Amino acid sequence: MKKTLPKRDRKGRFVKKKSNILKAKTTNLRTTATICNPNTDPKKVVRAFRDVTSQNLSQREIRGLTKSGGAHLIVVELDNRNEAAYVGRVDGKGPHIFLIDPRFISEETFTHEVIHALQQYDPKRPSLDKELTIYPLSWEDVTLKEALTEAETIARVKKIDPTADNYYKDIKKDNPQYPSEKEMKKEDRKRLTGENDTPKGEKSVKIVHKKFKNLRISKFKYPKSKLTAKQQLKTKTIKRR
Ligand SMILES: [Zn+2]
Repeated sequence: MKKTLPKRDRKGRFVKKKSNILKAKTTNLRTTATICNPNTDPKKVVRAFRDVTSQNLSQREIRGLTKSGGAHLIVVELDNRNEAAYVGRVDGKGPHIFLIDPRFISEETFTHEVIHALQQYDPKRPSLDKELTIYPLSWEDVTLKEALTEAETIARVKKIDPTADNYYKDIKKDNPQYPSEKEMKKEDRKRLTGENDTPKGEKSVKIVHKKFKNLRISKFKYPKSKLTAKQQLKTKTIKRR
């Protein structure tokens, strides 16, 4: 094998080879956890949450959430329908609080909930997000907010989980002629990004708004809502920031 000698400059000093690979700076979202379930290792949960957020959020998004308090996970068993929830910050201070059911620790759950935090705190998100984070919300607005969040989750995650399909189950119930929940979810991912592209930051928000009305998830409707997410979106005007 031919060996290349290290380069030297005119004075005979070794010249450092310039790398053309830019080292990706990875920032971690500052995360702590309180575990109310004896079988869950807090370190593992924190690590999993950091891994997911460092992959599925842009650097700007991570910095923004860390600056505004970081994340605090409370791992606790929730009632049957709830897998997780974004609680917010106490009096607008301290960390962003998330409730996570230990049975649903997954990439999709973490991504979905952290998008809720971004909707409230990221200044670069569209005006509609702000509107949908001021409570109390109508069932129609909750429907729209959840469907948009789910679409963005499916766009961002590295791997969709066809078994985690709560909202798609509701769609199937309302529209029995549609394909299975798993198929609908896969279809939506394809329509959003194709198989391998997983956008973050503003790009992921843009893609969701552009394609939303053609997604199965736009047909989602909470039982108490009179409108589907798609119908409710028609009643809104969205200003981009
Ligand atoms: Zn949600």
